[in-house]
Amino acid sequence: MTGLLIANRGEVALRIMRTAAARGLRTIAVYSEDEPDSPHVTHADESIPLAGFGPSAYLDVANICEAASSTRTTIVHPGYGFLSESAELAEACAAAGLTFVGPDGPTLRLLGDKSTTRALATRCSVPVLPATPGPTTKTAARDFAESLGTTAVIVKAAAGGGGRGMRIVDDLEELDQAIDRCRSEAERSFGNPDVYVEAYLPRARHIEVQVAGDGGKLPMHLFDRDCTGQRRHQKMVEIAPAQSLPDTTREALFTAALSLASAVSLRGLATFEFLVDADNLDQWYFIEANPRLQVEHGITEQITGLDLVSLQIDLAQHRALPDLNLSPDALGTPRGVAIEARITGGPKPDGSDLLNDVRFPTGQHLRVESHMQTGMRVGTGYDPLLAKVIVHREDGDFATAAAELNSSLDEVRLDDLDTDIATLQWFLGSDAFRCGRTTTRTIDDHLVKAA
Ligand code: ADP
Repeated sequence: MTGLLIANRGEVALRIMRTAAARGLRTIAVYSEDEPDSPHVTHADESIPLAGFGPSAYLDVANICEAASSTRTTIVHPGYGFLSESAELAEACAAAGLTFVGPDGPTLRLLGDKSTTRALATRCSVPVLPATPGPTTKTAARDFAESLGTTAVIVKAAAGGGGRGMRIVDDLEELDQAIDRCRSEAERSFGNPDVYVEAYLPRARHIEVQVAGDGGKLPMHLFDRDCTGQRRHQKMVEIAPAQSLPDTTREALFTAALSLASAVSLRGLATFEFLVDADNLDQWYFIEANPRLQVEHGITEQITGLDLVSLQIDLAQHRALPDLNLSPDALGTPRGVAIEARITGGPKPDGSDLLNDVRFPTGQHLRVESHMQTGMRVGTGYDPLLAKVIVHREDGDFATAAAELNSSLDEVRLDDLDTDIATLQWFLGSDAFRCGRTTTRTIDDHLVKAA
């Protein structure tokens, strides 16, 4: 039996194991020393301990390769986060004759750096916001910010991700300090201190395009997602496909995403992210690419009927899109609408980490992805994502889908963990959400007012 090693934990490890089981693959989990009993370990056919505690155990390429070589692994799936965009892991797998589920090393290296990706966009005539070219110095950053006039800027770590390594600067006096902080945070979190400075779009919607490529020049898109519902630049609520978006803009984003994917001869999945001006939906800018499975892939699966993890494995095994019967015609149009709420949270107020009461909603249009269960211990230092609740309505009734998602959250029990459910429910029930009038700051503004 072919073995698939999942170099990850939590809900995404369980998600990948489901597809592996459906494909008749033997599943191999890895785990850090602090979570030998966690759900991804008990669900796997086989499990291998990694040296070390907490997230760092999962971030060690040598650790993962050693685990793979000690088992009959032939495929390595990195999930999202951790080593999912690691060119080093992709290349180590290739050298060891293992199939890495993701693009090749050079593609990961190029797309893993936001400033080189911006340069690629410029070469492909895809619009980007004005920014300093490549890694910047303080003087160059100041000259750039002054050249913009009154507009605010955002300092970004080239290697940043997951909403971290970014700082908005409204006042030029604070630019130097923001650069220093961003640099040290980037060095600490991503091992690369390079930062650049970009014009800040204050009223933006975040729209992204899911793309699949087979290494040739004809990648295809799997529609779009609206991830405008964010808290501190981190996604909380996602919709597929985006509502209240002009067709011309949607088509333009598809074209831009496909030209970028084609330029790198993408093999695998990648998401191309854009900011759309909330006050002028014809104005949009590319911000970054994520060459991996996204947290929010489930809503795309709902509206396409595809299994994206399975598709990733096929593409990693060098199968071509037409051979997988994947073409725009075969895909057709989106099947209704899907909305996802990310439940995040942490630790128990009493300091213990044992969960005594975990329950999730069920229902006709619901899908829940989570590794949380009664009797488990919540680890410390890991991603705060606890569960994703998705409502999918084939009839495309967005307002009803939002209401169903909102009320389903009433049924969630996550012991007494401090979660974001109240904020999610406020957002899902707001007029702005129902009417498609949110920006990436809607939730932050609400939380400031509520405080
Ligand atoms: P990450 O890689 O950390 O996810 P992104 O570059 O994808 O970072 O940006 C995440 C979010 O940060 C965006 O969805 C948006 O809310 C905000 N953001 C990033 N760049 C800008 C910008 N130039 N202007 C306004 N908001 C921005």
